Formats: sequence, structure tokens, C-alpha cells
Amino acid sequence: MTARQTAIEAIANHRVASTQDYLEHAGADIYGEYVFGEAAQRQYLAKPIFRKLRRTIDGLEPFDPAIVDAVAHGVKEWAMAHGATHYTHWFVPMTGSTAEKHDSFLSPVGDGQTLAEFSGRNLVQGEPDASSFPSGGIRATFEARGYTAWDVTSPIFLQVEPNGVTLTIPTGFVSYTGEALDHKIPMLRSQEALGREALRVLRWFDNTTASRVFTNIGPEQEYFLVDRRLAEQRPDLVLAGRTLFGAPSPKGQELEDQYFGSIRERMLAFMMDLDRELWRMGIPSKTRHNEVAPAQFEMAPVYEATSVGSDHNMVVMSTMRRLARQHDLMFLIHEKPFAGINGSGKHNNWSMATDEGENLLDPGHDPHANAQFLAFLLAVIRGVNVHADLIRASIADAGNDHRLGANEAPPAIVSIFLGSQLEDVIDQLEKGAASASKRGGSLELGVTSLPILPRDATDRNRTSPFAFTGNKFEFRAVGSSAPIYWPQTVLNTAVADSLAALADELETLEQGDFAGLTNILSAIVKANKQVLFEGNNYADEWHAEAARRGLPNNRTTVDALPALSTARAKKVFAQFGVLSERELEARAEINWDRYVKVGHIEASCTLDMARTLILPAAVRYLGELSGAGASKGVATLTATVADLADRLVAAIDALEKAQGAAHHAASVHAEAGAFVESVIPAQNVVREVADALETLVADDLWPLPKYRELLFQY
Ligand code: ADP
Ligand code: MG
Repeated sequence: MTARQTAIEAIANHRVASTQDYLEHAGADIYGEYVFGEAAQRQYLAKPIFRKLRRTIDGLEPFDPAIVDAVAHGVKEWAMAHGATHYTHWFVPMTGSTAEKHDSFLSPVGDGQTLAEFSGRNLVQGEPDASSFPSGGIRATFEARGYTAWDVTSPIFLQVEPNGVTLTIPTGFVSYTGEALDHKIPMLRSQEALGREALRVLRWFDNTTASRVFTNIGPEQEYFLVDRRLAEQRPDLVLAGRTLFGAPSPKGQELEDQYFGSIRERMLAFMMDLDRELWRMGIPSKTRHNEVAPAQFEMAPVYEATSVGSDHNMVVMSTMRRLARQHDLMFLIHEKPFAGINGSGKHNNWSMATDEGENLLDPGHDPHANAQFLAFLLAVIRGVNVHADLIRASIADAGNDHRLGANEAPPAIVSIFLGSQLEDVIDQLEKGAASASKRGGSLELGVTSLPILPRDATDRNRTSPFAFTGNKFEFRAVGSSAPIYWPQTVLNTAVADSLAALADELETLEQGDFAGLTNILSAIVKANKQVLFEGNNYADEWHAEAARRGLPNNRTTVDALPALSTARAKKVFAQFGVLSERELEARAEINWDRYVKVGHIEASCTLDMARTLILPAAVRYLGELSGAGASKGVATLTATVADLADRLVAAIDALEKAQGAAHHAASVHAEAGAFVESVIPAQNVVREVADALETLVADDLWPLPKYRELLFQY
């Protein structure tokens, strides 16, 4: 039997191991078990310490160094009571993954004895040897110092593994010179900037009680799961996270029978485990379902403050990866693991709220009369329009390039969908004060036993990159693997910029001068309405229309990234204290660099697989054919396979040359350009020829698990 056949046999005999103990570990009993949350804090900290810590967590008081020793002691007692032996500062360097280095609590005290130690300093500050993280030129390799700093707003948690427990402290990561080396610090800064400017606007609307405005995030996470025994046989899945080869499966997603279909036992077992594990870590996992593509799924948590929700999303992705293994599955988070079927995104549901619980994007019953809502709505519209190029850049990478613009995901053109009700209100506002709001009415189903349904005032639009959905925006163009921090940093900064401009104007008016307000809002509509689009974002006509409107259409990462280096970009990030010029430049460089590195990995992997797996299969098959007698059919087949084998050799050669030439480009920008212009096209030719061979070569000689197996056999 071939390795593929052995794997398929194992899958056929796979049975889900039932864990009967789920009855004892249901929802509420286990929720937050692994989190040093409010309940644990109350139990392990003295009252005054507890109260002070809560005020800092709630953003009401700056961090007080006087309490850290006491907090550290409580944290240690709690962690050790749960079996923890180690602690780690957990952070998000600009690699796109999280990082951690573990220290044990043990310190020798002579006499062969040890003591468990964990000081306030251990809690608050760490210094990993940081020389190998990308810094975008902020630090040379010989300057290794980097510090981690505890982020009180994100709960401390336990990583519980089969053989032990690690106390995990979410932190920010800075260089010796104080520059952010991570994704989190700029996000927190953008949050504060947005909050500051939003409060100025709220004060004009006579809100004197809110003390803080922050954003909420509810990320819907799409992902694939495939059988590990098959997937491990594909170097491309192991190294690149996506298939670089693979002929289409005879059956794909055309029957649309996977979408919201009943969830197969094996996948549901994974999801059950996932939910329980996430609940233990205090992550409010809420929704799960089958997605459009075969073997594709989605989970969504209940929304949380962005500072917490973005960390939680990192934990969601790593927990999925870890648990998949326990179920003999491979977790694929790439934006496009399989050609020809849908890829995966992350839909960031986003809103602004006050510490009193008011959602500033809630239109209420009469949006036209809700001046404060309209002001915040228009601030978002202006921010997204004015900084569309930055928002596009914030979601640009090699993986998302496969997705944006294909007919399954929003295009690379940034536009906003409002829905018919708000569109109408905005149209009215353009001419003066809005006087009415369309109603949704109700839906009669014509069957007496079925209820009459209230109908939303607005339908949905699933093709828009940035859609208003009732009381929040859904930023749908984000890639599935992307950490939330960076796109949200850019969005927060863009909106902070708009809120600041709005507040500047409002502060010249008397409070309650609604005629003056209407003039200001009308002007924002007039200047920014080109970003509003209600139609089908997938249609070619939209591309033409967007060009007429002068909206940027940056198709690839190489087109999108220059936006990060404009004078306007430098100004806005610096003005709101989100990124210094040097920090922004570093981020841009890291993005370019990463794009090129991913490109090289994929090109090298393509060459390796084509040469050592695919070409040999074709040659072996030709050997078999040559002994198969001289029928006309065999002669034709032999000629076809031989021709494809020759073309494969030539395509391999061409790809190698293109990759070599890219290596010699004068700059990383030129190198990235070479990928778009020559390396990726050359790689596509290798794939095309190899995929044609896959449909001809004897199945038992084909070395790679096929799409029909990966996507359907589990
Ligand atoms: P749908 O997008 O299908 O309408 P939901 O309304 O349940 O689904 O929302 C999807 C995600 O949006 C969930 O994570 C949900 O918690 C989140 N969400 C709901 N309301 C808000 C809000 N005001 N701000 C941010 N996220 C929200
Ligand atoms: Mg949604």
C-alpha cells in the first residue's frame, strides 16, 4: 500500500473517542477556571489591593507600582494552587505569532533546598533575549535588549498542558530605546487616542458622565481542518500552510451542501473540546458552524473590549492548532489553503462604546433624529474614506493577496455598505436636516402556524469589505491568520483623526446648535460619500465605477504597502501618538520583508516538490507505459505525459531563474515587485503543468494526497 492508501485506511477506521466527563465540565462550572479574573483576584488579593487593581484594569487609574508585589504574591499563590510550576511573559512580536519564554518559580536557597519565588518585578517586567525578533531596523542584532511590560487590561491566564501548567502574563514588548517592537502597544495607543477624541465629541453632546470610550471587537474566525495523516504527506501544507499543487476535486463546493450543514461527528468532537478549553480560558466562544468550502468551519466569540478580544483571538488560533493535533487533524489558518474553493477570512465586528455601556454606533429607532449617532457614523465614514489606502495596507500580505478580489471575498477596493435605511438618512443629510427613517416592517409568511417576523430595516451585503450591521461595523476583508491588532490600530487611528477634526469644528459651535451641527455633517457627507457603495462589490461594474470615483484599488500587497510610507501616513500616526516615524517605517519594512520571505519559501517549496516528488512520478509512469504494449491509446497517453514532463522540466527551470533574479534585486521593494511580475507567474506555470499530470498519472504512483481526499476524507 502507498502512504496515501495507508492514511485513508486509518481514516476509514477512525472512531471519535468519547470523553464522558463532559457532563461534569459543562459551561458555567468551568468558565474562567484558567483565568486570574475578578473572582480569583477577589479571593487571592487583600481588599484594598483588589480595588486598586480593578480601577487600573477599568482604565480609571494609572498603574500603581506600589501594589505590584502584593499582586504578584496573589497571582503566584493562585497559579501554584492550579499546579503551575513556570511563568512566562506572553507577547506579540511583529512575526504575526505570539512569543513566550518560560521561567520556573524555583530559586535555590542553599542546603539543596529551593523556594518558589515570583516578585512584583517578575510580574511587571521581563527581558527576553530579543535579538532575533523582527525590528524593521529599529535595533541591530548586537543590540539585544528588549523589555516586556505587563498589560493589566488583558487577563493573566494558565496554559494547561498534559504534563504541566504555565502561568501566562500578557505583555507589551519594547526596545531598549522605548520603541514598540510588537503589535499590541500601538493598538493600545490607538485605543487611547480614539477614546480621547470621542470624549471631546461626546462632551459637546452634553454627555458629562462617561469617563472613557473604547472599542469592542467580535472576530468571526474561519478555518480549515483536514486529516493529519494525509496533510503531513504534503510538504507545502507543512511549510507554507497552503497547497502549492493540486488538481481540482471532481466535487468541490458547487452543491453548497457544506454551508451550515450538519457538523460531522469528528469535527463536532473537535469543536466541543475547543469550546470547553476556550471557556476555561475565559474566552466567550459562542457560535460554530460549517462554512462554504468543504472542510471549512467558523467560530465566533461574544465581543469584548479590543485590548482583551485581540489577545483572545491569538489564543483561539493557537488552541485550535493544539487541539487539532489531538484529534488527528491539521489546522489550516491560511487565507487560501486550496485553489478553486473559498478561502478564509476574519470578520472583525467593531464598535465604539463608553464605560457606561453606551454603544456609540447604535442608531436606535430613529436614526435620522439621533444626531450623536450620525456624528459618530460620519466620523467612521470619513476616517475610512480619507485613510482607505492605510486600511487596505493594514490587511495586505502574501496570504490575503489570494483572497481579496477573487469572487468570494471583498475586493481590494475599500468601500462602506450602510444599508438602505442609513443610506437614505445620509442622502437626506447631504441636503440638510434628515427628517425620517425607513422602517423594516414585518414579514408575513402566509402560514398561520408560523410567526409574523419583524424585519430589519436593512438587508445585509456579504460582498462589502466594511459593512454596517445594525449597531456595529463588520470589517470583513481581514485575513484569517492576521492578528487583529494591526488592522484595528489603523482603523482606530483613522477614526481618531476624524473625531478630532469633528471635535475641532464642534467646539467652535454653541452646545445644542443643531443647525450648525447639520451643516458640519452635511459637509462630511459631501466630501466622503464616494466611499459608500450599496451594490455587488464582486461585479466588474463596481471596479469601473470605483475608478471613476477615484477610490484606490491596490490589488496586491506590493501595490498596497507604499501607503505606509507617505507623508500623510507618518503625520497621522505621529499626531495621535500611535507610531513614531521610525516605528511606522519599521512596520512597513517588516511587511515588505515578510512578503518577500513568504514568496521565497513558496517558490523553493514548489521547486523542491516539483523536482523530487512530481517529476519522478511522471517518469515512473512513463516507464510503466513503455512496457504496456503498443496500442494507439497508450501511445497517445505516453506522448501526452512525456510532453507534460518536458514542460515541467522547462517550467522548473524558468521558476528557478526567476527566483534567482529576484534574489539579486536592488532592494526589498524591487524584490517584492519581482515576485508579482515574474516569480509568482512562473510558479503558477509549474503548478499548472503538475496539476495536469496529476489527472493522468496512475493514482498509486502519485505521491501527494489529492484535493478530493484532503477536502472530503475525514
Ligand atoms: P451576525 O454578524 O451574523 O449578525 P452577530 O450579530 O452575532 O452575527 O455578530 C457576530 C459577531 O459580532 C459576534 O462576535 C458578536 O459578539 C459581535 N458583535 C455583536 N455586537 C457587537 C458590537 N456592538 N460591537 C462589536 N462586536 C459586536
Ligand atoms: Mg457577521
